Order: sequence, then structure tokens, then C-alpha cells
Amino acid sequence: MIDTHCHIDFKEYNKNRGEVMDRAQQKLKAIINSGASLGGNRRTLKFMDEYNGFLYPTLGFHPSNASKADHNIIEKALDEIKDNIDKIVAIGETGLDYHELNIDKNKERQIKVFKTFIDLANEYELPLVIHARDAEKEALDMVMKYSLIPEVIFHCYGGDDETANNIVDQGYYLSFSTIICFSKEHQTIIEEQPISNMLTETDSPYLSPFKGLRNEPSFVEEVIKKIADIKSLSTNKVDKITEKNAKKIFGI
Ligand SMILES: [Zn+2]
Repeated sequence: MIDTHCHIDFKEYNKNRGEVMDRAQQKLKAIINSGASLGGNRRTLKFMDEYNGFLYPTLGFHPSNASKADHNIIEKALDEIKDNIDKIVAIGETGLDYHELNIDKNKERQIKVFKTFIDLANEYELPLVIHARDAEKEALDMVMKYSLIPEVIFHCYGGDDETANNIVDQGYYLSFSTIICFSKEHQTIIEEQPISNMLTETDSPYLSPFKGLRNEPSFVEEVIKKIADIKSLSTNKVDKITEKNAKKIFGI
């Protein structure tokens, strides 16, 4: 089992990160921690050192942060990513999040920053972890223009069926988070898409499968159980296939 997208660096874990990581290490083969800001990228690298061979980093800039951040901060993040390019398993998270966006200027900003990160993945031929919300088709249209990005992952996918079909047709991946445990809409997408293009994640600390309990990487087991249930496969088989996908994509 691999949690392919989490944020163990977030302050929500400051009080008991050690325990959370112990539980993760008991159950999982690896976790992919995604940097979402300049500070988040730095912390991700720090935890990579601490959990060497278990925690693998991707560095990026979350679109919601990109809307607000100072231009210099984004430039600094890009420079630091380039400085650490040999340590990371992918670029991201990056993308477009139009969910709570109402100012066009922010939209333009997100598109501009996203394009810079796509360029980076293309230049260094690294996988790209995309966060797209209410903008899945637009994100796909942008990334499809590039030919040197080895793997593309739509993390926590929740877009429409047509875009999901197109993502799979491109040979890209759909990553499903613990949200599938309670969202019927997400369960329908899983029903219709092939497991060969699926990954499992928690997006911790968000989207807990258990009410009142903060999410954590070890809960990725719930995603595997749910996919198995929806597709009438054994949990063992779902685990094997999705873990193999993750290892191949991130080269771990
Ligand atoms: Zn995330």
C-alpha cells in the first residue's frame, strides 16, 4: 500500500507526527508527500531526510496558494525546486482550483503559475501531480500539449466522466482519495474507469474517511477496500495493482 498524496508536513501533525508516521510505516510501503507552498516544500525535504526511503517528496505550489502568493515567493520556490531536482519523485502539487475563485485576475495567475510548473516537469522529464478542481478539462488541455512529461497524475480526481475518459485515453492516472468512502459521485467514476490507471491517496490531513477523526496516511487502506468493493475485486488485487502503478510512476 502506498499513499501517493499527503501533507504530513502540515501543522495539524505537529503534536503527534511521530505516532502518525509509526502507524504509516507499520502498514504502508511508502508515502508521497506533496509540497504545496515554499515553506511546505522545505518541510517536505526535511521529512524526506528524517524518513529516508519511506517518505518521497514532490515539490510544487498549490493553485489556491498561487492565487495569493507574492511573485517573488513563487520564483523562490521554483529556484529551490531546481536546486533539489535530483531528490524529488515528481513536480507538484500544482494546477487549477476554480472552486472558490471569483476574481478573473486570480484565474490568470493560476494559469500562469501552472504553466511554469508544467514547463518544469517537461524540462526535467519528471512526473506531474495535478490538483484540478472545477477546472479538470482545462488542466488536461494544458498538459496534453507537452510530450516529455513521463507520467501525469490527476490527484483526488472529482471531475466529469468525459474528462476522466480523456485522462485515461492519454495514459494518465486518476488518483482517488479517502473522499471515495463517502462520496457517491466519486464512486461512480471508479465504477467506469480501469484500475490500470488508478492510484490511491489520502490527501491527509483533509478528507478523513472517519467522522471526527483527522485523516492520516495509514487510512489509505480504506480507499483500497472501497475500490475493491466497487469493482468486485479482492482488496489484495487492488492493493497489488495500485501499488505497482505508484512504484512505476514515481520510480520507487
Ligand atoms: Zn494536496
